[in-house]
Amino acid sequence: MKSWAQVYVPPIDSRFNFPALSVKNSSTQELLQLPIKDIYRMYVCGITPYDATHLGHAATYITFDLINRYLLAMGKKVLFVENVTDVDDPLLERAIRDGVDWRDLAISQIELFRSDMTNLHVIPPVDFIGAVESIPLVIDCVEDLMTKNAVYDVEGDLYFSVRRDPEFGSRSKLPTTVMMEISAQRGGDPKRVGKRDPLDPLLWMKERSGDPSWPGSLGSGRPGWHIECCAIALKYLHCDRAEEFLIDIQGGGSDLIFPHHEMGASQARILSGKPYARAYVHAGMIGLDGEKMSKSLGNLVFLSKLIESGADPMAVRIALMSRNYGDDDMWHESRLDTATQLLNRLQSLLGRSDVAPTDSVISQIIVSLSENLDTPKVIDLLNQWCTSTETGLRGGNAGELARAIDTLLGIAI
Ligand code: ZN
Repeated sequence: MKSWAQVYVPPIDSRFNFPALSVKNSSTQELLQLPIKDIYRMYVCGITPYDATHLGHAATYITFDLINRYLLAMGKKVLFVENVTDVDDPLLERAIRDGVDWRDLAISQIELFRSDMTNLHVIPPVDFIGAVESIPLVIDCVEDLMTKNAVYDVEGDLYFSVRRDPEFGSRSKLPTTVMMEISAQRGGDPKRVGKRDPLDPLLWMKERSGDPSWPGSLGSGRPGWHIECCAIALKYLHCDRAEEFLIDIQGGGSDLIFPHHEMGASQARILSGKPYARAYVHAGMIGLDGEKMSKSLGNLVFLSKLIESGADPMAVRIALMSRNYGDDDMWHESRLDTATQLLNRLQSLLGRSDVAPTDSVISQIIVSLSENLDTPKVIDLLNQWCTSTETGLRGGNAGELARAIDTLLGIAI
C-alpha cells in the first residue's frame, strides 16, 4: 500500500567515521555488533489500524528509524519493510463496537498513522505492506508449510505445529508456563481442544459468519497474524540464501517478543531451513504517570492529540529519545517541556554564524549511536554543545551540525 511521504536526508561528510552498529539482541540479551555489509534487511512490525498512533508506537518507530538512519549514513542500502495488520480480531472488534465498517476504520487510522510518521520525520519503509493485499502470499506460505508437515486442521481452522521447529522458544527464552499465559493474553488459544500443542498458532481461520473472508485453496477464511509478517518479510526483503540469516533485524515493541516474533521466526525457519533474524530488537513500553499505558485503562497518549495541543513533533522525538530505547519508561509532560527547551536552544544557536566546535560533537553522536543507540548520551552531548556555544566557545560549523542532527537523529531544525 501507499507509504508516507519521503523524508529528505542530508548527506554527511565522508571524513566522519562510522563504527559498526551494535544493538541489543533480545534472543541472547547481549549486544550484537552487526557485521559490515552492503545491504541490511530490516523488518519492523507495524500497527493494527484501529488506534493510531500512541506514544508507545511513536517510540518504537523512532527507534528503528534511528537504526535505518545510522546504516544509511554509513552508505549502506537498507531494505526496510513494515506491515499493517489491516484485518485482525482487534480491528474487527473495534469496528463492531463503534458501528463502522472495518475497512473504513482501517483506512482512516492508516491515514492518521502516515501523517503521524511524517510529522515525526520517520523515513518511510521501502515497502509498506498490508495484510489484506498479502493474502495470496500467506496462502502460498501455508501451502508450503503443509508440504513440510507443519500444518494441521482443527474444525477447518489451520494451525502451525511449533514442534516442527527444534529451535522453538530459542528467541524468546520463556518457560512454558509463561508462554502459555502470554499466549492467552495476546490472541492465542492455548485451551482450544484438538490442538497438538497448546501454543500452536493459527495460520488460517475458517470463515466465521459476519467476518470478512477470502476464497482460495485453503477454503474461505482469513490469515493469522504471525504468518502474515513472515510471508511479507520473506517476499519483500528479497532474502539472500547465501547469507547466514534470512534477515538482519526483526524489530517491534517488546510486547511482540512472544508469541509474535517467536512464531514468525519458527515459521520462516521451517519454510526456508535457515535461521530467520540475526538480531531481534525490541523497544520498551511507554507508561503514563506511573501506570502502564493501555487501551483498557483508557490512558493512551496519542501523538496527533499532542500535536493538536501545540507540541512540536520534533520535541516529542527528542523526549522519546531521552530514554534508552529498550527500557520500559514512564511518560510525563515534564519530558516534553525539557525536550522543547533543548529544541528551542538548538533552533536559536544553530541559526548563529559563530558556534562552539562541531566536529567533535558530531563524531561523539555517531559513536554514541553505534553503541546500542545511546540516545540519552546524545541528548547530553547536544546540551553540552549548547552550553559551550552560550558561554562563548567558537570555531564550529552550525550548518554542518544541523545537517548531522537531521541525518542521524531525524531532528529537523
Ligand atoms: Zn509482525
